Amino acid sequence: MKGVAMKVVVTGGAGFIGAHLCRELAMRPGVSEVVAFDDLSSGSAENLKDEALEDCGGAVRALGTSGGEVRLVRGSVLEREHLEEVLDGADAVVHLAACPSVTRSMDDPAFSHRVNATGTVRLLEVCRSRKELHLVAASSSSVYGSVSGLPEPEGLSARPLSPYSASKLAAEAYVLAYGAGFGLPTLALRFFNVYGPLQRADKPHAAVVPTFVAAALRRRPLCIKGDGLQTRDFTYVGTVARVLADAVVRRVTCPAPVNLAFGERVSLLELAHLVGEVVGVPVDIRHEPPRPGDIRNSQPVAGTLLRRLFPDVAPVSLRTGLEQTVAWLRKSLDRESTGLPV
Ligand code: NAD
Repeated sequence: MKGVAMKVVVTGGAGFIGAHLCRELAMRPGVSEVVAFDDLSSGSAENLKDEALEDCGGAVRALGTSGGEVRLVRGSVLEREHLEEVLDGADAVVHLAACPSVTRSMDDPAFSHRVNATGTVRLLEVCRSRKELHLVAASSSSVYGSVSGLPEPEGLSARPLSPYSASKLAAEAYVLAYGAGFGLPTLALRFFNVYGPLQRADKPHAAVVPTFVAAALRRRPLCIKGDGLQTRDFTYVGTVARVLADAVVRRVTCPAPVNLAFGERVSLLELAHLVGEVVGVPVDIRHEPPRPGDIRNSQPVAGTLLRRLFPDVAPVSLRTGLEQTVAWLRKSLDRESTGLPV
């Protein structure tokens, strides 16, 4: 761990996971400067304001309560010169910037590849000229695709079902290749269905947790694509932010990809009922046709590699995480109904 005054850059830092990570980093002793580098294509400056996380309980912290500042720099990971500038003097970079939509990738695979894979190579090229820069990058459990056999150990071969997953696999492979080939200190973490406050329910193709919570809060039906028996392993965003921040301050590296998940597997039907319980309403479930490129089951091997690298991280339980999510979305929907910015 570097003792003093680390500068950390978070690409995609104004996005859902990025904004939580920037807060977490700003609270860490030894981190003196946090820069969110983001083109604001799906993230927003609002996510980095204190008000964004007001009143949603103790598992998230507001910016500036006792931590440092987060500076937002608007720019794209595709702009090499801008990257060089923002990474000047940095000790670590957490690479979250991506176009994370599976549906968008089905409509425009080349765009998905450009942002997710080429964007990662641009960043790695800057890192290559600064060999001390530690890189932690977000990969995705979707790289496993249709591979049969649960749970999913990291060694299982990948079989992406969408251009998004293929682009994340390519990005992850480049991160590991630059680690092996050029000796860069790198870590690639495969995220599994991250959820929590700041994840929007109102975007097209929003993630399942905010979609279910918003529907339950509005007393509307919860629509499930397919039979609802498909399973997912959900990780609370605060847990993800903790792992990422620990990786940064302890300069954790690994020559292989690491599953960032804790093995709490639930079906979408079970999730829908739990959301109803937490919101305090009976849920009305409707089934719709399955989504192309959707994954049937997803469950990592419960954290063997992760636990070895991050023995101190205890995950927030699904119920607690949902309580935080419901509190945040309830407030966000209240603001919407009163015409205030959300
Ligand atoms: P998000 O859309 O909220 O965050 C992505 C951020 O990247 C946004 O702020 C966006 O504006 C920014 N961005 C996009 N293109 C950019 C570019 N060219 N240059 C700079 N910034 C750019 O999504 P998220 O859920 O916070 O995802 C963060 C990362 O985690 C992504 O890499 C995603 O693939 C990965 N991931 C997320 C999940 C999940 O469940 N949320 C699961 C697996 C992997």
